[in-house]
Amino acid sequence: MIDLVKLSKTFGTRTLWSDVTTTVNRGEMLALVGPSGSGKSTLLNCIGLLDKPSAGEIRHEGNDITRFGRREIRRFRRDVLGYLFQNYALIENATVAANLEVAVKPQRTLRGRTDVTIAEALDRVGLAGRGEEKIHHLSGGEQQRVALARLMVKQPALVLADEPTGALDHANATAVIDILREMSDAGCAVVLATHDDRVRDRCDAVFTVN
Ligand code: ADP
Ligand code: MG
Repeated sequence: MIDLVKLSKTFGTRTLWSDVTTTVNRGEMLALVGPSGSGKSTLLNCIGLLDKPSAGEIRHEGNDITRFGRREIRRFRRDVLGYLFQNYALIENATVAANLEVAVKPQRTLRGRTDVTIAEALDRVGLAGRGEEKIHHLSGGEQQRVALARLMVKQPALVLADEPTGALDHANATAVIDILREMSDAGCAVVLATHDDRVRDRCDAVFTVN
């Protein structure tokens, strides 16, 4: 799905990481671990085309995505990528349902996938019947679950998640990781940054960023 090949990132004379070579396939979850400041978020941002590595390639279906132009970047984000940011990236002033509708444009279908409706996704994250509420009326934990429901609706081939359980209690953290695990079992590739040993233990592979 995604191959990182001899990837490095430097800022001036400082090397954040170098020679990062690893692969994540469909159906797999890769955990990025390492101390705070080691560059996990920067690595996720490079894969998500929000930042550029200093050297190396990120290969997807035969293409080095770090060389994509503006149009290819837009298409990659729209058709392939799902991102679970720490700040949820929801449209604050819109309803829950409207935030999920932006994800309902299946551009490509994963083999064997079945579409998840907005109602099903909201039900799955414990927000059944809450579709007409405005995002800014929800608690942080509820907003987090809306972001997760949006991922379930979009069913991207690649999910990038930056400390998806960082701000959650045990029960909610377990629910989030269960859903990411389900999405990966349904054929999506997941790359996540985490400090949480329980999250790391649910992944198929661990890469230490240093
Ligand atoms: P992590 O997610 O592992 O905590 P980050 O990827 O957020 O690490 O940050 C890694 C380091 O890179 C930090 O020390 C940060 O200050 C530095 N860094 C990030 N972006 C830039 C930049 N544009 N210029 C210089 N340093 C940066
Ligand atoms: Mg980080």
